[in-house]
Amino acid sequence: MTVDENIKRIFNELGRTKLVCVTKTIDTERINESIRAGATIIGENRVQEFEDKCADILPCERHLIGNLQTNKVKKAVHLFDVIQSVDSLKLIQDIDKKAKAINKVQKVFLQVNIGNEPQKFGFGSDEIGQVITQIQSLKNVHVKGLMCIPPFVSPEQTRSYFKKMKALFDELKQVDQDNIDIQELSMGMSNDYRVAIEEGATMVRVGSAIFGNRKY
Ligand SMILES: *Cc1c(COP(=O)(O)O)cnc(C)c1O
Repeated sequence: MTVDENIKRIFNELGRTKLVCVTKTIDTERINESIRAGATIIGENRVQEFEDKCADILPCERHLIGNLQTNKVKKAVHLFDVIQSVDSLKLIQDIDKKAKAINKVQKVFLQVNIGNEPQKFGFGSDEIGQVITQIQSLKNVHVKGLMCIPPFVSPEQTRSYFKKMKALFDELKQVDQDNIDIQELSMGMSNDYRVAIEEGATMVRVGSAIFGNRKY
């Protein structure tokens, strides 16, 4: 199957859910093939890799979905429309500061460690309420959504994690605060995006089902 065929097949399954085409390790020619096939959002994991590629990528929305290190925040704020992988208070404060310096309001999602896995990034679901209060004064970040990477279990077993995320999402949509406007729920990857859509994802992040297995 070609990139074009894969994208079109996935679009048919999406309904109103948006697709983030995950392009880590993929060269710009194939990224552009996906954009020409209709992809409007791309997701990259590494700031440096994206910086090296971005000048050659066709117009599209650019999301950071991988862990962001402190020393890359400034570049990330320059390069990305949305930073989906915000996983600490310190990071969001730093993003606010770097965004302020260039007069930008940076869109971010909060990453939730929905399986409470010690090795995974993200806020605990019970921490999010407190975080929202703590970032009240930040004027250069705008929290637009939630993102999660559930434990690596079978697609059917991820369903319970997606359900928990959906409940949290529905609760946080009600938050009335100037810099919070939670509208997106980013969950589901190649192996489980169908389950995520059934459970209310507004955005799925799909790489290998579009480009084939990654070569590192
Ligand atoms: C790589 C990656 C994806 C896509 O994974 P596939 O299994 O190739 O679809 C989605 N989200 C994040 C955060 C990733 O790092």
